[in-house]
Amino acid sequence: MIEIKGVHKRFGSVSVLEGIDLEVRSGEVVCLIGPSGSGKSTLLRCINGLESYEQGEILVSSQRVDRHGKGIHDIRTQVAMVFQRFNLFPHRTALENVMEGPVYVKKENPREAREHARALLEKVGLAHRMDAYPDELSGGQQQRVAIARALAMRPRAILFDEPTSALDPELVGEVLAVMRKLVDEGMTMVVVTHEMGFAREVADKVCFLYGGRILEEGASRQVLGAPREVRTQEFLRRLL
Ligand code: ADP
Ligand code: MG
Repeated sequence: MIEIKGVHKRFGSVSVLEGIDLEVRSGEVVCLIGPSGSGKSTLLRCINGLESYEQGEILVSSQRVDRHGKGIHDIRTQVAMVFQRFNLFPHRTALENVMEGPVYVKKENPREAREHARALLEKVGLAHRMDAYPDELSGGQQQRVAIARALAMRPRAILFDEPTSALDPELVGEVLAVMRKLVDEGMTMVVVTHEMGFAREVADKVCFLYGGRILEEGASRQVLGAPREVRTQEFLRRLL
């Protein structure tokens, strides 16, 4: 579903991605781990065209991701993104936040979009908070609204960029539980996370990024349980 071949990306004179190759199959869960500044967010942002890249190729369902190309809206609909900071519209309720994309971007019938949004909020456990504004919700609830909003676009894949890093520890579990549910339903996901328990449990593949490269890649059991590279070993040891 997602094919990344030899992607290089720089910000001015700083090289941030240095030849990334990665394949994500339909229904697969890939976790990206690695130190701060290794290029994880930039890679996600390249996949759905929020950033351009200079070299190489990214394909989503065989369609080339080109930030300035006319297919980019279609790709952003197919590949949704969930950010560390939930980025909800502050002056819209939970329900309105979830309906927004389908109605204004996809031109869905508002009544149907509302029904779908209700069902999605129910799915993330927020049936009782549909009319709340973001600042009336906890961080965990806001992030669950953000996940419902991503699902509202009926994406084929979702990219998560440290979805639990901004949360108080006691709220992490409720967001991971929703993500596990999506995994069980067969959603294709690329997840940047420091939650190693989650990665070990759900990832089909774990990639360790270091200095803009995938230094190590493999089954979660191998990369997290018996890493081959010294850098991976050091990184995992520091997380303990
Ligand atoms: P990670 O998500 O792994 O922490 P990022 O992808 O955010 O890493 O950043 C990788 C590198 O790119 C860092 O050195 C960061 O400072 C740099 N970088 C990220 N975004 C920008 C930007 N918009 N302009 C300039 N440099 C950036
Ligand atoms: Mg990041």
